[in-house]
Amino acid sequence: MPDPALKPCPFCGGAAEFVYTPWDEATQTGDDGTGSVVCQTCNAQVFGDSTGGALEWWNRRARDPEAEADRAKVSALLAEWPVIMAEHQEIRQASDALRDRLAEAEQDRNEAVRDRAALRCTLDAARARR
Ligand SMILES: [Zn+2]
Repeated sequence: MPDPALKPCPFCGGAAEFVYTPWDEATQTGDDGTGSVVCQTCNAQVFGDSTGGALEWWNRRARDPEAEADRAKVSALLAEWPVIMAEHQEIRQASDALRDRLAEAEQDRNEAVRDRAALRCTLDAARARR
């Protein structure tokens, strides 16, 4: 469960969670330090040590302005995505309509060629009778 006291991940902006499993002497498992903070999105992790707890270290980490700019670009692109997809759909429909019209025009042309050939035969026959 993300902890509201934790700042967003400095790498991806995701929500973070404080993780602490008390040390269990019997199983020799668990956390013998001050716990850790884990990003729920990219799994970036910070451990506490003798100079500070994981929560303090996590919140003290500097944000990367370049990464923030990249994140803003990605967000803008993601916001544009539905518009791009709608345009893509329109283009596809227009392309399908053009393909249909082309097929019709091809059919019309073939009929015209057949009609012309039939007329030429009729004309040739009429000339032969003269
Ligand atoms: Zn992250």
